[in-house]
Amino acid sequence: MADGGSAITVKTACPYCGVGCGVTGVVGEGRVVSVAGDPAHPANLGRLCSKGTALGATVGLEGRLLEPTIGGRVASWTEATALVAKRFRETIAKHGPDSVAFYVSGQLLTEDYYVANKLMKGFIGSGNIDTNSRLCMASAVAAHKQAFGADLVPGCYEDLDLADLVVFSGHNAAWTHPVLFRRMEAAKARGQKHVVIDPRRTDTAEGADLHLAIAPQSDVRLWNGLLADLIRRGAIDRDYIADHVNGFDAIEAALAEIDQSPAAVAADCDVALADILTFFDLFAANPKTVSLFSMGANQSAQGVAKGLSILNTHLATGRIGKPGACPFSITGQPNAMGGRETGGMANTLAGHMDFEPADRDRVARFWGAPNTTRKPGLKAVDMFEAVHDGRIKAIWVMATNPAVSMPDASRVREALAKCPFVVVSDCIADTDTAAFAHVKLPALAWGEKDGTVTNSERRISRQRALFAAPGQARPDWRIVADVAQAMGFEGFGWASQASVFREWARLTAYENENRLLNLSGLTNLGPEGYAALAPIQWPVGVDGQGTDRLFVDGRFQTPDGRARMVPTRPKGPADAVDAVYPLSLNTGRIRDQWHTMTRTGLAPDLCRHAPEPFVEMHPIDAEAAGLKEGMLARVITARGEAVALAKLTDRQRPGGLFMPMHWTDAFAPSGRSNPLIAPNIDPVSGQPEFKHTPARIRAYRETWKGFFLSRDTLKTPVGQDLVWRRIPQDACQQHEFAGRGDASERDAVRKALSKGLIGEVVAYDDDASGARREAWVREGRLAAVLFTTTTGRLPPRDWLADLFAEPVLGPEARSALLFGRPPGAPVDRGPLVCACLKVGAKVVQAAIAAGAATPDAVGAATGAGTNCGSCRPEIARMIAAMTKAASVKETVDAA
Ligand code: SF4
Repeated sequence: MADGGSAITVKTACPYCGVGCGVTGVVGEGRVVSVAGDPAHPANLGRLCSKGTALGATVGLEGRLLEPTIGGRVASWTEATALVAKRFRETIAKHGPDSVAFYVSGQLLTEDYYVANKLMKGFIGSGNIDTNSRLCMASAVAAHKQAFGADLVPGCYEDLDLADLVVFSGHNAAWTHPVLFRRMEAAKARGQKHVVIDPRRTDTAEGADLHLAIAPQSDVRLWNGLLADLIRRGAIDRDYIADHVNGFDAIEAALAEIDQSPAAVAADCDVALADILTFFDLFAANPKTVSLFSMGANQSAQGVAKGLSILNTHLATGRIGKPGACPFSITGQPNAMGGRETGGMANTLAGHMDFEPADRDRVARFWGAPNTTRKPGLKAVDMFEAVHDGRIKAIWVMATNPAVSMPDASRVREALAKCPFVVVSDCIADTDTAAFAHVKLPALAWGEKDGTVTNSERRISRQRALFAAPGQARPDWRIVADVAQAMGFEGFGWASQASVFREWARLTAYENENRLLNLSGLTNLGPEGYAALAPIQWPVGVDGQGTDRLFVDGRFQTPDGRARMVPTRPKGPADAVDAVYPLSLNTGRIRDQWHTMTRTGLAPDLCRHAPEPFVEMHPIDAEAAGLKEGMLARVITARGEAVALAKLTDRQRPGGLFMPMHWTDAFAPSGRSNPLIAPNIDPVSGQPEFKHTPARIRAYRETWKGFFLSRDTLKTPVGQDLVWRRIPQDACQQHEFAGRGDASERDAVRKALSKGLIGEVVAYDDDASGARREAWVREGRLAAVLFTTTTGRLPPRDWLADLFAEPVLGPEARSALLFGRPPGAPVDRGPLVCACLKVGAKVVQAAIAAGAATPDAVGAATGAGTNCGSCRPEIARMIAAMTKAASVKETVDAA
């Protein structure tokens, strides 16, 4: 931690995705840190993506929850802890242990997870603790358990370098795991082949050797078709199957139930036969294959079957436990794996032990907790349904935002509003979920947390504190341990996170005869050893050595040591499209945002690549709905409606829509996608189907629109039915809005927005064009700007937004204020393509127009793509689009 003004260097880990990059933070005075990738960390070898690079911009205290509150008033920790303990104790005494629940998060550290799980499953005696990782990779967990006997990820990142073929199944690695993607791009330059299976032509698909834009939910059909083809060709490994795998006969029988000819598979997946054959040939020809799968496979009512189909294919070909060959589930969150290990999921107990009597008794013995639950708890969707119908009467939400992120999010809000007692522990004060809290408990944020996380390749890394805890904020593990002690439970009196970790490591080693999750080499880590712990992959032997690959000897964690192939059968989506809802809505992430934007929304540069909620659609579907690029569109499903900017692209399949999942009430109340999603879940994993919801689309047809720039953050003016979006800028907040009312609505909004603004007002009204423009200047500085129009004509916002940084407005700027641009050309940088070096689309386009014909050339001319490289696929796409447009123009001119 910085002390007394001298900068110090701290090695920690990025808090965003499951790559788990090492970060070096140089901490200056105050809460200032400059971050860089840690060259010594094996996960990233010094690289960071745009989100990691911007971490320094997110460590301010703006919006932080810094004191406990009860019913909105500030309280002491003693009072808040006592109240939470009392209400949970009373609820349990009256209604039983299953009347309470914890909903936790992949943002928690392993130590936090361990303590929360020990309290709920061990001492309260209920299985009702589930993690938001349920929404990301629960299907992969279930598939691993069925096939391998435990939730075990076989491979490591080195396999991505060594593979000759990488198959990305529902995985837009270029955006969701950018640092790993850079690694695979480098391997591709050495000859590695890439196949992408995804209904959308994502940035990962753009540069791939083959893109299979399969029909939604046809993944099982494709993978089973591949396996059938490999069997026909004799391209499976019968020796490996005989020695290490059960269930192959049942697989063959199940495959024989339907026509597995390439033509039939191609027809059912709605892709060209030639492409199917190319995929089958590539897979057969490359024993060193890694099959990555992520949300696109997991977030489905048949997510477990998709995972099993991939695992079956690798087991049948013996492509597992070997350098460059494995099925590889990539996690979304920084510590989703830590939650899977410690028991953060309702259907696991702890340390890869479940509810079999021997496992349950072993964990209860270790904890000294005779009340340890004997059965799983409710998974996320069922948990909030139980809150809604009153079975759960007290819930504690830790470090997550289910009011935004759950499917059918409006119903989750109803549930929280009805719940008699809601506790939220978070580092952010005003999340959409915190609005329902009776008690709010301030937790540490990244930069203050200290503990461990596990990434997608089972590598445990230390997250270390850069700053002292601000205000009254405390570590999550300690908040939970204090409540446990106040409830009267023993076994929660740890002195530090290091002692929590030691206990956790001892549990993994306790009576461990064949569990691969074993940290026996870390059970005696002293304070110094814990502080200095270098990244290490589990299992960790008694010699302290980690393990890169699992199943190298062909032994699995099943009773007979053999893997299990499990037959899968293709099914259609849970809800089919119909005449009312003829389109398939797919939701997902975008490049520069993380989850519900509580952190990335603090970094203006990360908000400028895709500043507003959008819906991507094929031009054919847009034309049918009367939509053009940039118009506001209403996306409607049986569950609700959202409004987003229309983006027309042939990267989207006809019949499909895509919306990002990030926007919340704080940024765009009408642009939230998750209230649209039906809570259809996989029957085994409980993971919701975020990738397909029947939908229709219409134009919004606003009668007027405008923007309001101000130094303060504003919510939608109360009582107004507006489409409202907030976009953070460097020196102001940009609020965009549109409405369908008449002049009285415009007047009401103007009155609400100008309330409290003081200073000199310059204004311009033109009834003929429906324009109204106003600017407020106070003590020489720009205080606010309001532009509205009924004709759709508004200037670019960049110049006006930049003026908020001026200490005093110059005469030229003052006279041009209401034009919205300086004399001469308008300032419009366009969306930010390169978030690291702040290079906008217009600058990139100018470089391409001037002759830059490769991403390297654009980088040399503008700097774009020369830091983390996350934008290089987009630059390549822009080059291709402009080259195509130029060639069309030449043809037309010649004609
Ligand atoms: S890839 Fe980016 S978001 Fe993911 S851990 Fe690395 S720096 Fe963080």
